[in-house]
Amino acid sequence: MRLTHWIDGDSREAASGRWLEVFDPSTARPFAEVARGDAGDVETAIAAAQRALPAWSSLPTTERARWMEKLADALEANLDDFVHAESRDGGKPIRLAREVEIPRAVSNLRFFAHAATQFASESHHGQAGLNYTLRAPLGVVATISPWNLPLYLFTWKIAPALAAGNTVVAKPSEVTPVTATMLGELAARIGFPRGVLNIVHGLGPEVGEPLVTHPAVKAVSFTGSTAVGKRIATLAAPLLKKVSLELGGKNPTLVFADSDWRAQLDTIVRSAFQNSGQICLCGSRILVERRIYSEFRDALVERALALRVGDPIDEDNNLGPLVSQAHFDKVTAALARARDEGGRVLCGGNALDRPGWFVAPTVIEGLGPDCASNREEIFGPVATLQAFDCDEEAVALANAGDYGLAASVWTRDLDRAHRVAAQLRTGMVWINTWLMRDLRTPFGGTGASGLGREGGMEAMRFFTEPKNVGIAI
Ligand code: NAD
Repeated sequence: MRLTHWIDGDSREAASGRWLEVFDPSTARPFAEVARGDAGDVETAIAAAQRALPAWSSLPTTERARWMEKLADALEANLDDFVHAESRDGGKPIRLAREVEIPRAVSNLRFFAHAATQFASESHHGQAGLNYTLRAPLGVVATISPWNLPLYLFTWKIAPALAAGNTVVAKPSEVTPVTATMLGELAARIGFPRGVLNIVHGLGPEVGEPLVTHPAVKAVSFTGSTAVGKRIATLAAPLLKKVSLELGGKNPTLVFADSDWRAQLDTIVRSAFQNSGQICLCGSRILVERRIYSEFRDALVERALALRVGDPIDEDNNLGPLVSQAHFDKVTAALARARDEGGRVLCGGNALDRPGWFVAPTVIEGLGPDCASNREEIFGPVATLQAFDCDEEAVALANAGDYGLAASVWTRDLDRAHRVAAQLRTGMVWINTWLMRDLRTPFGGTGASGLGREGGMEAMRFFTEPKNVGIAI
């Protein structure tokens, strides 16, 4: 299978004629090739987006919404193909792809189709007269997305950009390029206006950087690692470009003794290990009140041991492999480092003895807040346990480190829940739940977890330029 760019409504090979291999993580074998784009391909895509801009940006919002609904319908009608493709490309458990990720991609398109028609500008009437704010599209914008939730995050970015009237050049991850390519093909098949959504594949430095620095690109919406986010910020800053950065996390899970943790253990386990820990929101640092520590630890380890790891296409498996050789090497090196730091591995801690990039769900105790294992994102099926004695200590442990994406708090004490939520230095807090999403809410993190927020009207505002008009009355 050869995966091409989609530019100006057409399938295009890289002008250089070069390709990159795409691997099946459950066998570690290549199964496809993807176009290895470069600055020339980026230029071609941006030119197409520029040509498409006047017509798309001046369409009535209801018409733009109609196109996005049409794309959502087409995606939904082909759900099964996308589910299988996502599962194979990313090693993703097929149930996760079917029940969460591809349906969520459909919802992203629908949600922002509606947002386009509901997005109202502000007006202020006072002694100074009447002020109203126009919100025009920015123009051509770039989106750069990662491999962990490939189509889910790809659509989470292109949908608000398109809804707000921009045209887009999108760069999916070279590690998982299949479903974005399929979406490009689907868009062409339903006659989506040419040049409005362009997809260019390739490596970050060869495609991502020319996109970020191109003068015609007015904003960059990026989700990925903190290191690449910093690189993009450095490139964009002197060009005074708008950037939104959704980066890594090292999220705390705070389990208080008064919580109903036994009943909630399934969700807590899911929060640590879903998608083999390859979700930026996974709770990888589990902080437990000392009074219940031993009991909780034993129950957690028992559940972790019961998780079925194996072929992602098998409906009965809970976890699949890690996404790539490079990522597998990173996670297994982190396991070795945890042992060197003095961590006690309670379960897992090793790769599975089979082809593919499988790592057993791992729980580690005995590491303090200053260890690299508790400070650096591992992004694998690895959770650490730390004990605390009081709320203050729990909050201090939770806030230790540079990241600030999400946290979950498990308690039946309402006062404590609100107090602790307010004290956590994260962009999102869940109480007695995890990954509960309402697409209208601000999504994103602080510190090393990023800059700006996505979701709802935050995203619509990001992808538009406000212009205030004041009239003397
Ligand atoms: P990555 O940073 O390696 O790559 C992300 C994207 O950036 C890819 O498309 C890649 O090709 C591109 N890229 C790489 N180098 C680039 C450069 N120099 N210039 C421009 N683009 C470049 O991240 P990844 O490994 O694909 O994804 C995993 C990371 O994403 C984790 O750190 C995870 O926490 C983070 N993530 C964050 C969120 C969030 O919402 N905060 C969501 C999902 C994933």
